[in-house]
Amino acid sequence: MTTISDAPSTPPQGNEWETAFYGAVTAQFARAADALELDDEARARLVQPRRTLTVNFPVRLDDGSVENFTGYRVQHTLTMGPTKGGLRYAPDVTMGECAALAMLMTWKCALLGLPYGGAKGGVRCDPARLSAAEVERVTRRYAAELIPVIGPNIDIPAPDVGTGAREMAWFYDTYSQAVGHAVPEIVTGKPAVLGGTEARQPATGLGVTYIIEDLLARFGWPLTEQRFVIQGFGNVGAVVAGELHRLGARVVGVADAGGGLASEDGLDIPALQRHVAAHSTVAGFAEADAIPGAAVLELPCDVLVPAAVEAQITAGNADRIDCRLIVEAANGPTTPEADHRLAERGIRVVPDVLANGGGVTVSYFEWVQSHQKYTWDVAEIQERLRHQLHVALNRILQAAERHDVDWRTAALTVAVDRVAQAARLRAVYP
Ligand code: GLU
Repeated sequence: MTTISDAPSTPPQGNEWETAFYGAVTAQFARAADALELDDEARARLVQPRRTLTVNFPVRLDDGSVENFTGYRVQHTLTMGPTKGGLRYAPDVTMGECAALAMLMTWKCALLGLPYGGAKGGVRCDPARLSAAEVERVTRRYAAELIPVIGPNIDIPAPDVGTGAREMAWFYDTYSQAVGHAVPEIVTGKPAVLGGTEARQPATGLGVTYIIEDLLARFGWPLTEQRFVIQGFGNVGAVVAGELHRLGARVVGVADAGGGLASEDGLDIPALQRHVAAHSTVAGFAEADAIPGAAVLELPCDVLVPAAVEAQITAGNADRIDCRLIVEAANGPTTPEADHRLAERGIRVVPDVLANGGGVTVSYFEWVQSHQKYTWDVAEIQERLRHQLHVALNRILQAAERHDVDWRTAALTVAVDRVAQAARLRAVYP
């Protein structure tokens, strides 16, 4: 939410998307481009977002006043097919954040073999301070503002931080009202009764768990003997915690925006989930030690799962991270400086583009179903998801060996190579 008084006095000039997060993502890209010996022409085509849209729009609040909101939609590459990516509602959403996340979506889709370029959008707002009716009006007006740049074969939004099936239903309805007929394939992550799939909501967290099971089996680390710490207890973190608990693993720490919890014996995750359903935060759960949210990342454990937002593991705390493996359920949780420090300390990182790829993979299945007006059952979708992630993990491990690089760089070499080849073959118009 922006008012005249907090508008920036010196507007940024030039490439408005070039923020620290965008810089971090392009630094990751550059490492992969170096490993591939990609030429400058190909790099230049991939390093900038193809389309960035900013919209400022008024919404009437429940008290009758009118508030102006700023929203974005960034489409990183148009080379691979329509663009795909979520919509984020948070107070710190910027064009630079959307652009960085859109680039990550391009690599994620390419790594997983999905026929999309990356996109991301969002509205700068605090959904916790808006009523459901206000969120609905924000969503409908934002959807209407995006109509010139989206479409079921152009750009397909989905949930991200601060949005879910409810917002997708409103978005779908607004788009359908505008074009005069139902278009369920305009969004993914919508409720099952509207043409979504029950498999989508847990998909990101399930994908994280499949990757953990797959990797631990390759390492010979019994899952039931590992201690897990999860930062974030929302759409993704809560599912990961629930699945790991169900598989007999010990979750020794969790955190969300309200605070952190630690329990050396392992948290009772079903009881914690009931607490969160009642109180909307992990804070206040009596059967564990309360600790500051930021301290959770530094708890001793075997596997650390950052499942919140970007830039959580930084040069400032990387030396105090006390785990053997990091699995990035969030997008961009580790900065390049932290990556470097972790590598020196022998801590492996499973990159976001693989670890949280379950969400967009099931989005793809939902989109195909919506286009075909045909529904697959949840078990079939989950089996396909497990297989697709397993294949992508194989590709990464092979690329890591071939190029002698870390897993993130390896994942990006697979992805960047695919997109660069497509760009070369489509050549330059006119
Ligand atoms: N927002 C999710 C992500 O970051 C999913 C995007 C989608 O399903 O299109 O991967």
